[in-house]
Amino acid sequence: MSERPMHLPQGTPLGEHFTIEGLVRLTEGRMFYLANDIRPDRTLRKCWACLNDESPRSARACVRCKAPLTDRRFLVSARWKVEGFQPYLDFVARNERHAGLASPVAAFVEADVLYSVIPYLGDGLMVDEASPLPNRRVFGLGQRALGALARLHTREIAVASLQRANLLVAQDGTMRLFDLDIASVGRPVEREQRVTTLASLAEILRRYCDPEAIGLQRLFLDAERGSWDDTMGFGRAMERVHNAWVDRAYLPRLAVLSDVGLLRQLNEDNWSWLHVEPQLQFYVVADGMGGHDCGEIASALAVETIVERLRPVRASDPVGLETRLREAFQAANNAVKDHADAKGTDMGTTMVCLLVAEGRVGYLANVGDSRGYLLRDGVLDQLTKDHSWVQKMVDKGKLKAEEARHHPHSNILLRTVGTDHDVEPEMFRVELLPGDRLMICSDGLWNEVDDRDMESILNTYSDPRIAARELVRAAHHGGGKDNVTLLVVEV
Ligand code: CA
Repeated sequence: MSERPMHLPQGTPLGEHFTIEGLVRLTEGRMFYLANDIRPDRTLRKCWACLNDESPRSARACVRCKAPLTDRRFLVSARWKVEGFQPYLDFVARNERHAGLASPVAAFVEADVLYSVIPYLGDGLMVDEASPLPNRRVFGLGQRALGALARLHTREIAVASLQRANLLVAQDGTMRLFDLDIASVGRPVEREQRVTTLASLAEILRRYCDPEAIGLQRLFLDAERGSWDDTMGFGRAMERVHNAWVDRAYLPRLAVLSDVGLLRQLNEDNWSWLHVEPQLQFYVVADGMGGHDCGEIASALAVETIVERLRPVRASDPVGLETRLREAFQAANNAVKDHADAKGTDMGTTMVCLLVAEGRVGYLANVGDSRGYLLRDGVLDQLTKDHSWVQKMVDKGKLKAEEARHHPHSNILLRTVGTDHDVEPEMFRVELLPGDRLMICSDGLWNEVDDRDMESILNTYSDPRIAARELVRAAHHGGGKDNVTLLVVEV
């Protein structure tokens, strides 16, 4: 199955032992359910302590191990890309145990969907966690994941790549890997595969790492670019910087969360942040378009290019920050355009970015309909202007602002990154005051949540990570029709 299946309604019997309680989360390539093991249609029930399944339904204790038979709850992960089924089932058959792995109690295919079931211990899902995490938790996540990967590699189990959907967060903040994408079982894990797996872990770590932790950011970026081909090497590199970074704490003044939404299969949004130096911070959100192998490539390439162009820039730059930002934006545009030409596709992306200098001046640059907002004294104002057909009609007085959002042509963009060489980013400059909050976001947020509701959420939650999560929740509540990415930063 290549399309995400319809979700199973509450009460659906699943496999031999389970009943669906409800869908808890959709994410890229996965659906998550809660389930229980109440099955009145079965005369016998399974003991989850010894796995014997011959106790009568009415028994209070297992006929074999005498463990009490209480009703239990389970987290069920469902996936539908058939290619990965067999390696995963082979992996489950090996019954590997490790503190960093949540081992399934059952894994089976039903109606072209692979279900993986683990006991539900109140864990949260990493896809709901906004960045950044405290350094201590980033180290914890890295060490746990590396330990589990090291074990799998010695057992000749290759993990294709890690994604946030593979991470469970226990109530005490520790993490476990689950429902992994397995590449192969039963042959030595090749170097190239190890590099890829470690790079995918490093990307997760970098994105959860505070941008102020510059040394850690650099380490993870190196790993992402293939500096380590074994878990030991990467682990030792983390150990070397552990003591210097583990206890550093940062003010909760920024957050980012990117989410696939409720209808799309693929998250084509991208984001990044870069604390160039203490006086100069950069934030970017891009929303790619063009479908699979296009949209997510375009937004990733634009984001990576603009970040690399700005990395050497300093607050004291003689040419001026606005010029530097414009040049970097242009470079990102041309990188996407060149890539699109080489591939013969028409990929493109929106991009909105924010450069904050000395905590006093914000420079925004925008192309497309991702947006920048300012929350000042409790009032949210849109700083950027969409390059969209409906916005043009609003400017001409032919459409009311409130009609624009639901207009059938609301998705037509007049300017995008990567469509032509030398796009003109629109620049905005804002003098900042202490306590200001800035937000940049993709249209998946503002299309689903109106400005007054965003304002109310930002005013209600002073912790930006909680605000980010609530904003994504609100976008889901509004329909979740598109990918949602938002980045909040407080001055
Ligand atoms: Ca979008």
